[in-house]
Amino acid sequence: MKKGYDVVIIGGGIVGCATAFELAKRGITDVLLIEKGYLSSGATGRCGAGIRQQWGSELNARLSMESTEIFEHLEEYTGYSGDCGLHQGGYLLVAYTEKEWAQFQENLKVQHRLGIDSRAVDLKEAREIVPFLNTEGMYGATFCAKDGHANPFHCTQAYAQGARRMGVEIATYTTVTGLTSHNGHITGVETDHGYVEAKTVINCANTRAPEIAQMVGETIPVYAERHQALVTEPVAPLMDCMVMSFHRSYYVQQTPHGSFVMGIGPQEEPSHNFHSSWQFLEKCCSVICEALPPLRELRVVRQWAGQYDLSPDRNPIIDEAANAKGFYSACGFSGHGFMVAPRVAILIANHLAGQADTLDIRRFGLKRYETGELLLEPAVV
Ligand code: FAD
Repeated sequence: MKKGYDVVIIGGGIVGCATAFELAKRGITDVLLIEKGYLSSGATGRCGAGIRQQWGSELNARLSMESTEIFEHLEEYTGYSGDCGLHQGGYLLVAYTEKEWAQFQENLKVQHRLGIDSRAVDLKEAREIVPFLNTEGMYGATFCAKDGHANPFHCTQAYAQGARRMGVEIATYTTVTGLTSHNGHITGVETDHGYVEAKTVINCANTRAPEIAQMVGETIPVYAERHQALVTEPVAPLMDCMVMSFHRSYYVQQTPHGSFVMGIGPQEEPSHNFHSSWQFLEKCCSVICEALPPLRELRVVRQWAGQYDLSPDRNPIIDEAANAKGFYSACGFSGHGFMVAPRVAILIANHLAGQADTLDIRRFGLKRYETGELLLEPAVV
């Protein structure tokens, strides 16, 4: 680490690494990224890495659609020699209530206005897409063939390596322990490996972002909620798409090497608990085997836990601290930070580089919780 940098980024998940890359692309290369563990050791490496464009608000649909366009050629975009593992087998979103089904029709209108190629499917077609889907109790589904999933470790590495090649420094196993400011402006970052001066600091520490913001007296209304997932033994290809329900709060997909990855929504107290629980294992298997009965034959090989960084409206907060200019936070991504990270990083980098953007970064500001102009999203887990 040098004595000082133009920009210090805190957090080596997909948001921090993509932001470092986009800044460097715009010529801002005097950048240090600090990560307390290894890259992707937070939520990014624990996520389902699902990428869907089927949102109900224009903002999320745009963030996701424009991110998908980048995921589609991320290797070329970042100069990465590995494989980011994008598989576009589609998302089948299933509706279990009349109200949900009506909302899906509204969501489709938003998606179609943006040119997203999604459509309503009846139960017969849903069974054609996933032949062993139990459609009992379902009203219908929507499908977008361009939705899918990618490998979160490779995507993060692609951004990190691309950033490094352009001059960004990355310090892993280094923990941020404090921030300094002077006359209402950020001046530096304390770490367990020493102090670095910084003109700008970007807080991409996910569930730890609020405590980092507190170091300059900024309150961010984001809390951590444990979410667990499991993976089964690999089997021959059975289904190509992700199946997801908001009402029953489950998602399940088959990865390219044959394992099924799945999760369900928890009802848990806020915590940074990283332990797995048998209650999750039992509930998840029961909910998903009801929707996809043949999966009950599969053996579970592993389960793990991570956290969603939940904001009051379950949408991102991207803002500069009122009392420490030059200190930005990008957090509150809830359960969809992976799929929107490429476009979010562009938005932040354009703002800091003084370049125009077709999205208004102020929409993601903390002020919305005072004015009531929330980012309401009917299609969020
Ligand atoms: P992170 O990846 O958590 O990165 C933040 C980093 O900051 C961490 O690596 C952490 O170590 C570091 N850090 C924290 N404190 C400090 C400190 N003091 N000093 C230095 N470094 C620090 N999203 C989707 O889009 N699709 C999905 O299918 C999906 N499924 C999910 C399933 C599960 C089980 C979970 C838990 C999440 C899921 N998500 C999904 C959400 C997604 O994982 C996150 O929104 C996204 O990864 C956030 O990226 P990030 O870079 O902001 O955070």
